[in-house]
Amino acid sequence: MSDCCSQPGLISIEQARATLLDDISPLSDSESIPLAQAAGRVLAQAVASSVCLPPCDNSAMDGYALRYADLDCADLEKGAPLEQIGKSFAGSPFDGEVWPGTCVRIMTGAAMPAGADTVVMQEQVTANGASIVIHGEVRRGDHVRRRGEDIREGDTLLQAGSRISVARIALLAAAGIGRVEVQRRPVVALFSTGDELRQPGDVLGRGEIYDSNRIALLAALAKLEVEVLDLGILPDNREIIRENLARAAREADAIITSGGVSVGEADYTREVLEEMGEIGFWKVAMKPGKPFAYGRLRGTPFFGLPGNPVSALVTFQQLVVPALTVMQGGAWSAPVPLQARLLQPLRKSPGRTDFQRGIYRSDEHGTLCVEPVGAQGSHILSGLADANCLIVLARDSGSVKAGEVVAIEPLARPLGL
Ligand code: AMP
Ligand code: MG
Repeated sequence: MSDCCSQPGLISIEQARATLLDDISPLSDSESIPLAQAAGRVLAQAVASSVCLPPCDNSAMDGYALRYADLDCADLEKGAPLEQIGKSFAGSPFDGEVWPGTCVRIMTGAAMPAGADTVVMQEQVTANGASIVIHGEVRRGDHVRRRGEDIREGDTLLQAGSRISVARIALLAAAGIGRVEVQRRPVVALFSTGDELRQPGDVLGRGEIYDSNRIALLAALAKLEVEVLDLGILPDNREIIRENLARAAREADAIITSGGVSVGEADYTREVLEEMGEIGFWKVAMKPGKPFAYGRLRGTPFFGLPGNPVSALVTFQQLVVPALTVMQGGAWSAPVPLQARLLQPLRKSPGRTDFQRGIYRSDEHGTLCVEPVGAQGSHILSGLADANCLIVLARDSGSVKAGEVVAIEPLARPLGL
């Protein structure tokens, strides 16, 4: 291992994440909300189905419902015609019974009439007045969707802790569930610190920059179903930072700040935190994103992101999102890394896990390849904006040559599109 790997106080990203996840507990309160508003929320209770899906045997085709035994002859065309005795529509079932030698005209989604066990699609049927002749191959049970083949009554549809996706909303709606009990949204207090920061839209003075971190984090938190207490931009002023941190600790479930946690002379967030809370200042062995603060401020979890914009967003994605997931009652699991062939060499020294911004795609042979995008400085936002993945180079790895295979993490929610 190189010298930088054994730098005092430098912890691996895995260790940082494990420490956070260990320290965070799920919020204990939940609320009942309409199902249509539940995308992205986490279920507080398991949901079971009180119905079977499909609720009854029904047709998967427009055609004719009949008894397979009636077709039991080698040459269907020469078989006896079947007499059509009624119709079954979705929502208007046929009430009678299909006796030997008869059939019922049936539409997709209509209930199978009693006595019938098979549907023949209408393209295989020649209708002649009230009777039909069938051609082509038919198997017993064709085109019948069975009661309960998707879900059985009493089945658990989703476990507590499941995040509700659009597909899961469809499943719950199909089972007749109108409201769900979900974990309360965590309230996250957010502010940026820095005398140089201005709100986008304002006019910049000399030496000033726009506050991109807070705006991006507001957008990311909205995607994560978190309620934000936006405390704005704070100047590098000890008293103002102290007041806002005290308010954040009182009113929020977690606090996220950016800037001021490093060792510069205007890094007051660090000083105030030291005096008010139990905060650890971590040097995480990751690039971008070395300075990171985590701890509790009067009991409230605190995440101090670095000020540099790419570092702020990558540490947010890698460290804060897992912690918020656990706070919401969900389970966090590491993204499954993909392997891609590198199209350009990458420079790296051993010591920190590197998250380089990249664009991955499928090459002409259908294998994944990736190229780094733009300059890789922690202030270069254009590369992150163009990227569709992070190229993850292990802590101990050195430079990588073109043609080698590297791990990539597609930029998923909330940083990705
Ligand atoms: P700091 O961590 O406060 O020393 O800031 C490190 C770098 O990030 C400096 O160049 C800051 O100007 C920049 N920076 C800090 N906060 C923000 C922010 N909210 N948006 C954009 N850049 C920032
Ligand atoms: Mg600063």
